[in-house]
Amino acid sequence: MRQPKTAGMPDPRRSVPRTDTVLADPRIVAAGANLSPAVVKATVRVAQARARSGQIAPDAVVGEAVAGLPQAATSLRQVLNATGVVLHTNLGRAPLSASALEAMVTAAAYVDVEFDVETGARARRGRGTLAALRAAVPAAGDVLAVNNGAAALVLATTALAAGREVVVSRGEMVEIGDGFRLPDLIASTGARLREVGTTNRTCLRDYADAIGPDTGCVLKVHPSNFRVEGFTSEVSVAELAGLPGLTGLGVPIVVDIGSGLLAPDPLLPQEPDAATTLADGADLVTCSGDKLLGGPQAGLLLGRAELVERLRRHPLARAVRIDKLTIAALEATLRGPLTPTCVALHVSAASLRARCDHLCAELLSDGVLGPGQAASLAPEVVPSPGAVGGGGAPGLELAGWAVTLPQAFAVALRRHDPCVVCRVERGRTFVDLRCIPESADDAVLEAIRSVALQRDPG
Ligand SMILES: *Cc1c(COP(=O)(O)O)cnc(C)c1O
Repeated sequence: MRQPKTAGMPDPRRSVPRTDTVLADPRIVAAGANLSPAVVKATVRVAQARARSGQIAPDAVVGEAVAGLPQAATSLRQVLNATGVVLHTNLGRAPLSASALEAMVTAAAYVDVEFDVETGARARRGRGTLAALRAAVPAAGDVLAVNNGAAALVLATTALAAGREVVVSRGEMVEIGDGFRLPDLIASTGARLREVGTTNRTCLRDYADAIGPDTGCVLKVHPSNFRVEGFTSEVSVAELAGLPGLTGLGVPIVVDIGSGLLAPDPLLPQEPDAATTLADGADLVTCSGDKLLGGPQAGLLLGRAELVERLRRHPLARAVRIDKLTIAALEATLRGPLTPTCVALHVSAASLRARCDHLCAELLSDGVLGPGQAASLAPEVVPSPGAVGGGGAPGLELAGWAVTLPQAFAVALRRHDPCVVCRVERGRTFVDLRCIPESADDAVLEAIRSVALQRDPG
């Protein structure tokens, strides 16, 4: 059917530029350089359809398509973590160090991950990373790295106790987060849970009574994300290791320490570490790579060489294998400079105070904001305890400071580019610089200024 036309006016639908023409436009070529041709084409088609239906002018197709193209091939956005929570699970736990980042870029190409360039023969996957881990924890006879902490635990209980019993204290039957419960995880491996003791008290006798020929392993789990106080008792690894029944039957002690501290940290006296746990008599220690270790998502297994070898040879090991990017980042985390996690945990309250004072002073006096705008911000420097997060060191407060702003800033700063994620407390937005690299303090200042100017153009 012919469409009616206005006399003398060409049908705008006929002048919608052809797909090939739009795709060849330099503006589209530039904006789509890092995107798949299919994504670019689909976006162009949407703009053409809008022109055909008269929603936009034909000559606006290119501009419309450019505006509709994704900014990058990834939909993930970097955020500035101004929450004061160091291992923020929703923000991806540990941020990587510059060396880990560089290592990942190296590993992203063809790389000798399982290849010996000298001999041209196959080599053990991730050997450099495992050597770095062994060097970091000399008490470990051997080490293995898998996909994450939960995978490390599943591999250990499957290889050591499938079809048999895993003896665990009732006080250690924890939920990791997001509904994942360790008892369910262990049951999924085909091992039977043998619970001993009570929620608040478990004694050596409870373990001794439960251990027998059907025991695959004894498991101790660090209840990282909660604390039991009052009338409590638990059995230490050292006490367990001294239990004659265990050694007699050759039952291994597996300890899930959770956070991945390799050696003690005086700042975190309640956090178990791999070296001490092994020295206390654990046969196998499991932990995460992206919590206190400050590395990529990974699960580490450290302990007696013959146990680690059994795990390495188990068929499940292949299903929880870590990828080459993780192998690279983990080694660089172990061999590289202090991790951003370590820096954020140990930054002094005095230096946080000085940075907050500076931020506050800049906001109040730099002439970018008018006096009215600055006054309506009412920034204040207040004490603001930071937290370890990621289910680690519950209740521990890290001394620090924050700048507070009106509550509405939290949403606006989150929607700002770059995105700044703050904490809201007592009707105020808390901008906590603990987890912000000092070099990004100016970006935070700029974000606050820009939000203040938008809200109150003066
Ligand atoms: C975090 C944690 C896990 C899970 O580790 P992921 O790396 O998140 O899989 C298991 N056990 C304990 C005690 C933990 O703290």
